Amino acid sequence: MIDSISPYSILTFNIIFFGYIINTSILQYFFYTSSTLPSRLIDNDNNNDDNKDNNDSSTDMSGQTSSNITSLTVHKITNNDNLLMSWKIQSNKLDNVGRFYGWPILSNKPNRGDYHRIITFINLILASFVAGFTTECSIRKLNYIRYDKIIYIFSSLIILIIFEILLAILCQSILEYYWHRIMHFKYFYKLFHKYHHYYKSPEPWDDMYIHPIEAFGYYCILYGPPFYLSLHYLSFIVYMIIMGICGILDHSGIFICIPYIYNTKDHDKHHSKFNVNYSFPFPFMDILHQTYDRGREK
Ligand SMILES: [Zn+2]
Ligand SMILES: [Zn+2]
Repeated sequence: MIDSISPYSILTFNIIFFGYIINTSILQYFFYTSSTLPSRLIDNDNNNDDNKDNNDSSTDMSGQTSSNITSLTVHKITNNDNLLMSWKIQSNKLDNVGRFYGWPILSNKPNRGDYHRIITFINLILASFVAGFTTECSIRKLNYIRYDKIIYIFSSLIILIIFEILLAILCQSILEYYWHRIMHFKYFYKLFHKYHHYYKSPEPWDDMYIHPIEAFGYYCILYGPPFYLSLHYLSFIVYMIIMGICGILDHSGIFICIPYIYNTKDHDKHHSKFNVNYSFPFPFMDILHQTYDRGREK
């Protein structure tokens, strides 16, 4: 019954839907747009590729070389360019630096994959729906999210919440890793996962480019912990904030690192090298399975 849906579930749907758009917009605006560098304007006549630093002169799935894809090619390194290099993970992938592209359904960023707009829109709706569904289940007591008051002494509650967050992350990481490995089986790769690997150097708005069936499986894993773990609602909210932020950052092309814990280069490396770093956002399952590539080139 539509009228029996809790307003909290609708609120959750909107938080995920608009939260994703707002967060990704802010990220792109501050990093990409604020890096407009006239000095980097191309000199197509003088194809001086002296900035081709760490990458292969890579070929995208579309079959074009990056220098052809870009209408921006770094002509020479200036101080500003050095600044640019300090945050861009794949620093020869500057296609869209200096430009602001809003949400895919509203703008047409060049070189996007087939059906990018419709696929990302479906997935954003799907992710928001699963979030709303999880809230609705918790209100109807169909999962194990607890709303107990602070009955513990303060420090005990904090310890419990930290423990629950870590446990949820552990469960998510294990399931995500094997789900992702399965997606790399030839059959499933051709069927589903090739979409997500279209982007070798993901940027804001690229993270939702996943086949919706694969995405639904991933959202079940992401939102799964409260269906098999007893979690305080604060634990689940913090867990989702961590996962949401990391999911966006992992596909942002922006270098952010918490030593020994988290590095945006890890998943970026998965996109550029394909057969390493299946685990995200945290690398411990890759370390366990010896599929971890730290990517030291920066
Ligand atoms: Zn993959
Ligand atoms: Zn990815």
